[in-house]
Amino acid sequence: MNAPSREFDVEAIRADFPILGRMLDPDTPMIYLDGGATSQRPQQVIDAEVDYLTRDNAAVKRGAHRMAAAATDAYEGARERIASFLGAPSPDEVVFTKNATEALNLVARSLGDGDSSTPDHLRVREGDEILVTEMEHHANLVPWQQLARRTGATLRWIPMADDFTLDLTDLGSLLTERTKVLALTHQSNVLGTLNPLDRLLEAARAVGALTVVDAAQSAPHMPVDLSALGADFVALSGHKMLGPTGIGVLWGRYEHLASLPPFLTGGSMIEMVHLDHSTFAEPPARFEAGTPPISQAVGLAAATDYLSALGMEQIAGHEKGLTQRALRGLSALEDVRIIGPAAAPERSGAVSFDLAGRHPHDVGQVLDSLGIEVRVGHHCAWPLHRRYGLHGTTRASFSVHTTAAEVDAFVDGVARTADFFR
Ligand code: PLP
Repeated sequence: MNAPSREFDVEAIRADFPILGRMLDPDTPMIYLDGGATSQRPQQVIDAEVDYLTRDNAAVKRGAHRMAAAATDAYEGARERIASFLGAPSPDEVVFTKNATEALNLVARSLGDGDSSTPDHLRVREGDEILVTEMEHHANLVPWQQLARRTGATLRWIPMADDFTLDLTDLGSLLTERTKVLALTHQSNVLGTLNPLDRLLEAARAVGALTVVDAAQSAPHMPVDLSALGADFVALSGHKMLGPTGIGVLWGRYEHLASLPPFLTGGSMIEMVHLDHSTFAEPPARFEAGTPPISQAVGLAAATDYLSALGMEQIAGHEKGLTQRALRGLSALEDVRIIGPAAAPERSGAVSFDLAGRHPHDVGQVLDSLGIEVRVGHHCAWPLHRRYGLHGTTRASFSVHTTAAEVDAFVDGVARTADFFR
């Protein structure tokens, strides 16, 4: 726990988010249901960045002056707070990246770049298999396609079932001794489906495969305790968890990070540089080439403090209630097909739907005219949409500041949109 806990009072929470007072037209308040794409930031996060920039701003690590020391303290302090939020055994396991996409690219690139000094289980080579799922965001699919292409490994995937969950019928033949990596999302950004990580990570461990979890959509909404999860690598996105853009996190087991080659190279990640070769720093510095996103790290730490104070269990409970309410409301509408599991237990608060085959951009525009901001399109999950015969969907996603009244306005807005197109 990073910050003193506070009561989960949605009106008090809303007062922390200055942007929620924005009017889209003089008589149209904004209902922001697009936290799944990027979340809004509470004043506490904005203040943390502004305070850092107005008091401590300098380049980290390299200076002998007091400002460099202050900036370094702020940056490394942020790493410690984020490690504690995640239940990571050590802050040295927390690598700051640009976003979740870069965190996943880092792992996929480093696993293909080893040499004879790299332990075999951290080297993907020809004949190995990489297992993903059909529901992945492109950020957790394309880097693995590229790794397979570079190394001659084979990419395989766990298919989707008709009920919008993973079809695990053939897991035994997909996850075998040949599997070097299982990379999968904790929560689908489209369907809201929560994957059975316990079962899948255990099965992967049983065959000696590394596990990479994309927690970009889950970490903002439910407890993610890295010590309990048992994954090898976990990727997170700052801007989806009330933090700044330009910052993500790769958490990795220290022994893996310490044996992996770097991803990006240059300043700050070296131990010694000669003209013809270099040696590399220990993690996490080895994976943080160049000047890092410092104020963003400070902002992200403030976001994790904010989430901790509210309590991840309380946040999950709040959003689950909203999700059930939205699913109930939408399923009563004639032309709406919910694209995701109907029941709340295996799902979280991303609610996608198809409106009688109407183009999601048209649906999104009518909802926007009512002040309701939702996501439309393929949500960077093209193969998943193809699986269900869809070009795109419309997605509402709920956050700590979403109210039941906003969910009702959303359902009413979808009903009005359906009428508009009828
Ligand atoms: N993974 C999932 C499941 C996502 O939903 C997203 C973004 O939508 C990403 C990864 C990529 O996150 P980022 O924007 O931090 O790169």
